[in-house]
Amino acid sequence: MKIVSAEIRRINLPLRTPFVIAYNTWTMMPSIIVKLTTDEGLVGWGESVPDEGVTGETIDGVFATLARVLLPDLLGEKLGNIEAWHARVEVAINGAYAAKAAIDIAMFDLLGQMAGQPLYRLLGGDTNHVKAPAVIGISLPEQLSESLAPYVSEGYEHFKLKLGGSPALDTRRVAIAREFLGEGATLKVDANQGWGSWDVALKVIRAIEPYDLELIEQPVKHWDYEGLRKVREHSPLPIMIDEGVRDARDLLSVVRQGGIDWVNIKLMKCGGILPAVKMAALAEAAGIKVQIGSMLESSIASFAGAHIHRALAAVKSSEMVGPRYFAEDIGNFSYDRSSVVFTEKPGLGVIVDEERLNHLTVVSQRL
Ligand code: MG
Repeated sequence: MKIVSAEIRRINLPLRTPFVIAYNTWTMMPSIIVKLTTDEGLVGWGESVPDEGVTGETIDGVFATLARVLLPDLLGEKLGNIEAWHARVEVAINGAYAAKAAIDIAMFDLLGQMAGQPLYRLLGGDTNHVKAPAVIGISLPEQLSESLAPYVSEGYEHFKLKLGGSPALDTRRVAIAREFLGEGATLKVDANQGWGSWDVALKVIRAIEPYDLELIEQPVKHWDYEGLRKVREHSPLPIMIDEGVRDARDLLSVVRQGGIDWVNIKLMKCGGILPAVKMAALAEAAGIKVQIGSMLESSIASFAGAHIHRALAAVKSSEMVGPRYFAEDIGNFSYDRSSVVFTEKPGLGVIVDEERLNHLTVVSQRL
């Protein structure tokens, strides 16, 4: 079976409310959707959601990379050799991981359909029950209870607060959140590099430690491995690296420089499902717990991440939260309270609403 045509669309996914973190604010989420069609009429879906500050790619750049470099090279490709494809495009274009992720995901969707199996079965089997946390963006501390309340009434048990503002405000945010949530809920925080230096980070961590936190994510700048090591050495709480690790080579550097407690692997940072699975194996061997994270992604990439979490024992958590934030999504990714709902359809199990996809499309190209 061969890939005979491809379609790229840039869409804008409308958010229910603006999403604010330490280094950016989004009022809508631009995304690139890829549709691959085979000579036997199978359709595979992929998605790319770059984050300029993390993957170094813009949305227009991803569109151009796909249209001019990656997709023309893919047409005529026989299905099923994803490893060889990654090796080839590694040479053809350096980095460009979010762009590559779109094709990797679409190829895995097709592979699952060829095999007649949902993706999690191809990746390892039925290992984990997949839950999504409620991720709360930065707001005034006084507004936090209002943001948390709908999740609490829906039965969510896992919460993540975005921090990375002033130490005093961040400490108040955590205190207010813990008081509102009570003792049962798990709570973790993500500074998104916002505390600046390792000593400030450590000061905040010590101030928020009494509020029973699960872990601290990306407390220092992404390049500051030395600062990260110092924070981890003195921190009473486990540390997760996110922006500081994109691909397996970054993860290996962290391992060689003393390790880390958790790594947040994202398909958009590493190039898709196959690179993410390899990173998870590396982390597992190094004794590092894995989270599969996401940019705010539609049903397509959210399903991809959720299948990895379901399949691999090394993955202890995932954050497929995009569809929860969108006023309109293009597919069927859904939650039963905080649990991700899978279909038993082969591949990703995504059912794309093409009418809605058309409606959200800004620009498209066929190859
Ligand atoms: Mg993060």
